[in-house]
Amino acid sequence: MPVDDFGAQLSELAQADQLRARRIVGSAQDASMLIDGQRVLSFASNDYLGLANHPRVVEATMRALKKYGLGAGASHMVTGHHALHEELEARLATFSGFPRALLFGSGYAANLGILTALAGRGDTIFADKLNHACLNDGALLSRANFKRYPHNDIGKLRAMLADSAKGASNTARRLIVADAVFSMDGDIAPVPELLELAEEYDALLVLDDAHGFGVLGYRGRGVLEHFNLIGSDAKPANPRIVYMATLGKAAGGYGAFVAGHEDVVEWIMQAARTYLFSTATPPALAAGAIAALDVMQEDHERRRHLRTLIDFFSDSLKLQYAKLPFSQTAIQPIIVGSNHDALAFAEALRERHFLVPAIRPPTVPNGTARLRVSLSSNHVADDVFDLITAITDIEVQLLGQRA
Ligand SMILES: *Cc1c(COP(=O)(O)O)cnc(C)c1O
Repeated sequence: MPVDDFGAQLSELAQADQLRARRIVGSAQDASMLIDGQRVLSFASNDYLGLANHPRVVEATMRALKKYGLGAGASHMVTGHHALHEELEARLATFSGFPRALLFGSGYAANLGILTALAGRGDTIFADKLNHACLNDGALLSRANFKRYPHNDIGKLRAMLADSAKGASNTARRLIVADAVFSMDGDIAPVPELLELAEEYDALLVLDDAHGFGVLGYRGRGVLEHFNLIGSDAKPANPRIVYMATLGKAAGGYGAFVAGHEDVVEWIMQAARTYLFSTATPPALAAGAIAALDVMQEDHERRRHLRTLIDFFSDSLKLQYAKLPFSQTAIQPIIVGSNHDALAFAEALRERHFLVPAIRPPTVPNGTARLRVSLSSNHVADDVFDLITAITDIEVQLLGQRA
């Protein structure tokens, strides 16, 4: 029977310590959470600015919910495009430094839609090896040639671009595609160098700023502000940049958007199948996202506090066996190595009431299983201090046996 195969496949996953299980959340997003019936200090969410349960965000969502109900009823192109969606798109465009923005249902849907709209047969997508899964899926679905360069390796990318430029038809399009902040490593892509290559080889540069939006830059405008590529409202970003970010992480809600040159965004709207053939998100979510943007723009203290915690964690944690790669973002990975050790580490932390997820292949390369600590402005310095103490103790107990 075909169903028997699945049982065997599941056993294989379990053998490799790759079987995943869900935890049941019984509280709102916060530093302290009720998870599987236990109070834990959570270092596991992407709610970097603590906006998922911010009173202004909740209030704005509820007001819109009362007025407009829940469902959008149809796709954006039929009757699902609400005035609140329109207002949010205008706000996102201004905030991210582009003339136009377009909402998507999720980041996953956005990346599939963007890449399939912008590239097709005969075109070439150059992608960082550590890009998020949905960028890879979008590239495959586009049917373009799909070339992956070693992580952040500008020299290799240049060689690949030079190679592909030989004898290519001059109508073929080139896209350089990268996470702006790598989701399992927390490091930032060398965007100015990528942009230079995009200029040199006449390519588009697609940036996925899921983890930078709201967090990076003095005003939280993301990776482009971080690199001074959108200095002021008067200076729009480079038109070859196609900027994508999600609303489910620092913005505390759900959904995503793409921003860029007017014609590029209009084309994505006309062509992206994940846009055209999918129901619009509830208008109340757009009201919540507008409120989240308000807080991001008015309350710099949240970002400043998060930055303090990031510096404190990365400066203070001293590891003997595991590795803490350099990261200036809220994502702080502790590379343990084997799946088994990563799981045991996470479990030992859990016994001390800290929730830090173990990340295993295929999410990360084989042999680089890790703990993914994510910091939030909801944490206080003592939370981070306690976590550092626990990690230091457990590391010696658990990995010291190996050495
Ligand atoms: C989370 C994430 C996505 C997917 O966004 P969703 O809105 O959760 O579907 C895309 N890209 C990156 C880099 C992400 O971290």
